Amino acid sequence: MVSSSEGFTWTPSGGVRHGLPTIGVVVPPTHSIQPPTETYDAIVIGSGYAGLVASRDLATQGKNHRVGGMNILADQQTGKKTLLIEARDRLGGRTWHSTINGFNYELGGTWIHWHMPHIYREVPLYGLHNDWIVTQNPGGKEDYCTITTGTEQRNISHADEDEIAGRVFQIFCNVDGNNLKETWKYAFGTNQASELMAKWDRLSCQDRLDEIHDQLTTEEVSVLEAQLLQMGGNSLAKMGLLDALRWWSLGSNVPSGLNNIALHTRLRSGNSALHRRIFEHAVSTGNLSYAFETPVQRIQDAGGVVVVTARDGQQWKAKDVICTVPLNVLSDLEFSPPLDADKIEAANEGSVNKCNKVHVDFNGPDYLSWSSVGTPGKGLVAAFGDHLTPADNSHLVAFGPDPESPGGIPLNDTEALKTALVHLLPKEKQNSVIINRIVTHDWNNDEFAKGTWCYLPPSFTTKYLLALQRSHGNVCFASADFSDGWRGWIDGAVQVGMQMAYQVIQKQLKTVVEVKESKLTNGALTNGVLTNGV
Ligand SMILES: Cc1cc2nc3c(=O)[nH]c(=O)nc-3n(C[C@H](O)[C@H](O)[C@H](O)COP(=O)(O)OP(=O)(O)OC[C@H]3O[C@@H](n4cnc5c(N)ncnc54)[C@H](O)[C@@H]3O)c2cc1C
Repeated sequence: MVSSSEGFTWTPSGGVRHGLPTIGVVVPPTHSIQPPTETYDAIVIGSGYAGLVASRDLATQGKNHRVGGMNILADQQTGKKTLLIEARDRLGGRTWHSTINGFNYELGGTWIHWHMPHIYREVPLYGLHNDWIVTQNPGGKEDYCTITTGTEQRNISHADEDEIAGRVFQIFCNVDGNNLKETWKYAFGTNQASELMAKWDRLSCQDRLDEIHDQLTTEEVSVLEAQLLQMGGNSLAKMGLLDALRWWSLGSNVPSGLNNIALHTRLRSGNSALHRRIFEHAVSTGNLSYAFETPVQRIQDAGGVVVVTARDGQQWKAKDVICTVPLNVLSDLEFSPPLDADKIEAANEGSVNKCNKVHVDFNGPDYLSWSSVGTPGKGLVAAFGDHLTPADNSHLVAFGPDPESPGGIPLNDTEALKTALVHLLPKEKQNSVIINRIVTHDWNNDEFAKGTWCYLPPSFTTKYLLALQRSHGNVCFASADFSDGWRGWIDGAVQVGMQMAYQVIQKQLKTVVEVKESKLTNGALTNGVLTNGV
C-alpha cells in the first residue's frame, strides 16, 4: 500500500517513523479532462468531505451549459466540468485512516452515526451500511472506568461512568432550566431564540463552570473538565459555551445522548474507503480533473471568471470556485478582491480547538473495555478502548488539550506521551502495561489544518458565522468549521459541500436562463437555439 507523507507511528523496536500507509493517496496525483487554458464550470479547493461531496455533486448533477461562442441549448450533457485542487497527497483532509498490520487507525475524524443525516446518506449510497465497528465494547478483563483527580483515583463501573458524565454535562448545559428542550428544539435550526443564543455565546465554558461549581464535587468537576477539554481542545476560558450547548442539543437534549451518537460507531473499512468511493464516482463521470500535492496560493475573481493560482505558478480558470480550506488556514490564501473585513477578522481569530488525539495499542486484549477520565492529567485527559487489533492487542484512543495550554504536551515528545497514558491507568497496573504502538497525526503543526475539529471561542458565532458563510463574488465557502447543524463534524462538512454545489449549479442555471431571455428579447434566438453565441 502507498504511504502518505503524513502522520507518524512509534514502536518500541522501530522508534518514530514518519509517513503512514493509506488507501487515500492519489496516484498519479494529477488528471486532466481538458486543456489547462479552457475555463472550468467550477473549481473546488480541498478534498476533505466538503470538497469531495461538492466535486461529486458538481460532476454528476449539474448540466454543462456551454456559453463561450457555443450553442447553449444543444450542449447540455449532465455534470459540470470541475477541477478539484488539493494541497496534500491524499483524499480526506482532516479525516483519513492508515492500515497498519491489518488494523485501521483513524487519524482524524472517526465516528459517524445515523443521527448525522448527511454523512449517513453517503454510507448506504456506497454500499457501506453493514460496514460498522462499535467502539467502547464490553467484555474485556479490565471492564471499568478509572477516574484520576490529581492524586486521587478510583475505578467505577461503566454504568456509573455514564451516570456521572451524563449528569454533570446536563447540569452544565441546563442554562434555561429546561435542558434547552424549548429554546433549542431544532438542533439544525438557525433562527431560534437568537437573543438567548447571543447571551450564551458571550460566555466561556469557564464562566459556566464557575456558575455551577458549588453544585459539583471535586471528582465531578474533574469529569466535567475532562469532557469539555475533549470537546474543545483548549483551556476552558478560551472555549465558547455555545458550542457545548449546541452539542447537547444535537445529542437530543439528554444526558448520554451526545456520547451515544458521537463516540459510538465507525466505518470498519475506514473513512478513506468512503472517500475513495465518492472520488471515484466523480471521476467516473469524465467531468472531473484533479491536482493533488498542489497548494493554492491565490484566488482572483475578475467578475466573469475566477483565476486560481497554485504555489508553483500553475493557473486555472472557472466560472465559480468552492473554497473548502479550514477556517484556521483561510487567511493563508490571497484573495483579489480582498475578503471583507469581518471574514478576515473571523479567519484571524479562528477555531480554538488544538487537541491531541492519540492511538495506542496496549499489549494483549485486557484493556478492550477500559476507559479513563480525569484532570489535571499529564497531557492527556481521557482514553477509552476502541477495539482489538488482529494480533489481539487492545486498541485505545486518547485525547489531550492544546499542547500550549496548561496541562498540554507536544505530540513529538513520545516519552511525555507514554507518561501521560500511564498516568491514566489504575496505579496498581501502571508498571505492568506494555505499550506496543502509538499512532498519531500532528494536526496543530499541519499547515493545511492548523488545528483539529472546529470549536469556537466566546462571541465568535454571533459576530462571524454569517460572514463566514457568505459568498465572495463568484467564490463560495464550504467548511464543516462554519456549517450549520453538526458544525465541526464530518456531517457538517457533507452538508455544506452538498449545499454549495447546489448553489453553484442553480446560479449557473440562472445565468443561462437570463442569457437566453435577454437573447429572446433581442431577437437573437431562433427555434430555441442561440444563433450568434453569447
Ligand atoms: C483529530 C480529529 C478527530 C475528529 N473526530 C471526529 C469524529 O469522530 N467525528 C466527526 O464527525 N468529526 C470529527 N472530526 C472533525 C471532522 O474530521 C472535520 O470537521 C471534517 O473532516 C472537516 O471536513 P472539511 O472538508 O470541512 O475540511 P478538511 O477535511 O480540513 O478539508 C479541507 C481540505 O482543504 C485542503 N487545503 C487546505 N489548504 C489548502 C490550499 N492552500 N490549497 C489546496 N488545498 C488546501 C486541506 O488539505 C484539506 O484536505 C475530527 C477531526 C480531527 C482533526
